[in-house]
Parts: sequence; C-alpha cells; structure tokens
Amino acid sequence: MALASWPEMSESEHFVQFCETDAFLVSSVSKFISTALIAGDAGIILATQPHRESIEERLRADGQVFEVTRKQGKYIALDAATVLSQIMVDGYLDATRFNEVIGGIIRQAAKSGCHVRVFGELVALLWADSKRAEAIRLEELWNELARTQAFSLFCAYPMQGFDGEGYEAEFAEICRQHGRVIPTESYTALTGTDERLLAIALLQQKGNSLAAEVAERRRIEAALQESEAHFRFMTEEFISMASHELNTPLTSLIGYTHLLQYRLKKLGDEESLRFLATINKQLDRLTRLINDMLDISRAQQGKLSYQEEFFDLDALVRETLENLQARTFTHQLLLEGSTTAHVYGDRERIGQVLINLVSNAIKFSPAADKVIVRLSEEGDNAVVSAQDFGIGIAEHHHSHIFERFYQATEPATRTYPGLGIGLYISGEIIKRHRGRIWVESQKDEGSTFSFSLPVNLQ
Ligand code: ADP
Repeated sequence: MALASWPEMSESEHFVQFCETDAFLVSSVSKFISTALIAGDAGIILATQPHRESIEERLRADGQVFEVTRKQGKYIALDAATVLSQIMVDGYLDATRFNEVIGGIIRQAAKSGCHVRVFGELVALLWADSKRAEAIRLEELWNELARTQAFSLFCAYPMQGFDGEGYEAEFAEICRQHGRVIPTESYTALTGTDERLLAIALLQQKGNSLAAEVAERRRIEAALQESEAHFRFMTEEFISMASHELNTPLTSLIGYTHLLQYRLKKLGDEESLRFLATINKQLDRLTRLINDMLDISRAQQGKLSYQEEFFDLDALVRETLENLQARTFTHQLLLEGSTTAHVYGDRERIGQVLINLVSNAIKFSPAADKVIVRLSEEGDNAVVSAQDFGIGIAEHHHSHIFERFYQATEPATRTYPGLGIGLYISGEIIKRHRGRIWVESQKDEGSTFSFSLPVNLQ
C-alpha cells in the first residue's frame, strides 16, 4: 500500500508495515495519524519514547490540529514498554488485562463517537526481546478485540528483526494475523506495476538462490562434522593400537634387563650395572607414557577399569612416597599430617593419581630440593595435597589444566617432557571416586595440587 492511500483505508483494519529505517516508520505513522486527526478522528500511539517524540514533531509541523485534538483527548500517546508491563503477568500476556487496558484506551479515544486509528509497537518490542510466541499472541488479542470494538490498527516491525534463519514460519504467522501486509519502503517506493513485478521476480530469484546456498552449507557442515567424528575415531583407534603395540616389546625389554641385572651382579660388573640403571630409568619413563596412552584411550571409551575395596589412605600415601623416594635423588619427599581415613575405591588408581602429582611436582621444580605431601581431613573428606616450589602455573591455565592434552608449559620447547595426559586421567579417576581435584598456584611461586575423597562411604 502506498502512503497516499492512508485516507482510503477502512475503519477497522489490522495491517502490518515492515520497515527498513526508523525515518520511514516515523513518516509513515505520522501520515497515518495526521490523516485521522485532520478528519476529526482519534489517533493513539503506543510507541517508544524516541518514536513518540519524532512522530509528534511531525504532527506539530502539520499545523494546529495536533494541539487541538490533543486537548480534546483525541490524541493519546503512551509508552509502549509501560503499556506492555500493564498487560503482562510473569512474562506472559494476560488477555483480561489486555482487554481492560487497551480496550479502555480505545474506548476513551472514541468517546465522541469518532473513528480511532492506533499505531502500536508492542509486538515489535516483544519480538526484539525474543518473546516471539507472545508477539504472535498479542496480534491474536488485537484481532479478538477488533470483534467487539472498531479501530484501525497499524503494526510495525523492523525488517532486520527477521534476519537470519528460522523465522520463516513465525514471519508467515505474523503476516497471516493481519488483513493487509505492507512490504518495506524499498518495495513500496516503486510505483508502476511493471516495476513491482520486476522487483518480485528479482526477489524470487534471490530467495531461491539463498535457499540453495543454505542447503549447500548445511550439506557441507554435515559432511565436515562426519569427517571430524571419523578423524577423532581414527585418532583414538590409533592411540589405542599404538599403545598396545608399544607395550609388548617394552614388557620383553624389561624382562631382559632384569635378567641382565642378575647376570651383571653375579659378574660384579659395577660399570655395566650403572648403565643398566640408566636404561631402567628410561624404561620406567616409557612405561609411564605408554600406560598413560593406554589409559587415555580406555578413559575415552569409558572403560578405565576399577577394582574397588576399602583401603587405608595414609598407608597407601606412605608406601607410594617410599617407592618414589627410592627413585628420586634430587628432591626430598616429606610427608606431613595424617588421617584415619578408610577410602572405598581402587587403591592402585588412587596411588596412580598421587604418583602423577608428585612426579609432576618433581619435574616442574628443577631448582628446588623438596616436595611436601600433606594429609588432612575436612568434614567427610580426606584431602591429599602435593606442594612444590617450582615454576608454578599462571591463573588463566587453572580451569583447563585437567583437560586432555592441555599443557601450561610450552610443549614445543620440550623443556619439560610429557603428553598432557596425566592430570586428565587423574581427574577422571578422582571423579569416578566422587572426589574433587584442584590446583592452587601462581606463576613462579610453586604449585599445590590436591584431591579429596569421601571417607568411609561405599
Ligand atoms: P604432562 O606433565 O605430561 O605434560 P600433565 O597432565 O601431568 O601432563 O600436566 C599437564 C600440564 O600441567 C603440564 O604440561 C604442565 O604445564 C602443568 N603442570 C602440571 N603439574 C605442574 C606443576 N606441579 N607445576 C607446574 N606445572 C604443572
């Protein structure tokens, strides 16, 4: 509908105007209302403050009529958000309140028996606030009210509110709720029929090519997701296979070193025994890495095995530290505190967590000479902490440190060898035991890694 046809519109019509710019909206509404006021009819605007101000500026510029009709109570302007708050309860429209409030305003304007034109922005506010179902419901309420009261209603929506995917059905529903749908100004500005037909054909072509483009993108996205999932699966398969394959020769190597050690001891060959000790140390490292790799592929498949029983936590911690100390010459491993905790869980797996934390504490504090392990009880939990005096961890890493393959230290420099698996596995193990694991640390100020386990619970 071109602007020129405002005067010819029927007395009770519900139409929607889509707009591209505010300026067009203001000009359109001003003409709609001023035509009514000039004809001696009433005009109501339920709009935002900036729109009310701009519309009134236009109406004033049209002459005396505006001030006169305002004094007669034939021009009513209300804030859209305030009116919305009066007709909504707990975020939903209330039909009774709508009829009371909106019906009341229209009745008041129509007191002198004149026709009433209403411009409402309530629906647009609801739409912009993502309350799309309520926007459609409000259109329905306006239509229901129109069955008992006569008024013409001008609804306006900014077209950009429908940008993006997924609005197709709702857009169609909004259009269906109106007796007349007016496209945006780029279309209404066209005057000739041929010009409009051309515009429709161009829009149809654009619509078709966009629909084809969207379908193609969806197809590519689905294919990408599928190949990513396949790649993840293959990687996990590879890790699982590689770690199993590495494990077999390693077991055999360890067996032969024990044999060699036995023979060299018999021969009293001290120098070769020292070489063998170095080989053993490296084999230990390899064993830990391969076990981590085996564990990560099991954890990914949710297949980390657990053998659960009640065990004495302090005894496990003491035993683990003694074993670790026997292999550690650079640091003193000190034990502080104690608990009386009997923990239900997999003793070996909890031992694995402690080995991990203490090995990290040693690895990441090359300039220090001690690591302190503390035992304590907090409520229904036993807490084990390992404190080092090493390189520390900057705060922004803390929330990621228990993720798979995450390394706070620069892996490329290889200063601290590792795969970023140990803490992930530790986290999985502690989670499985209904416990908690966390870190307290600052860069260059050492770290304290702790885990807590529920005590005496099965
Ligand atoms: P890895 O030590 O094999 O890299 P982890 O999962 O055990 O893997 O640790 C992940 C990362 O957390 C490490 O690479 C390191 O950056 C950081 N980290 C772990 N423990 C400490 C610690 N005690 N001090 C400083 N950084 C640590």
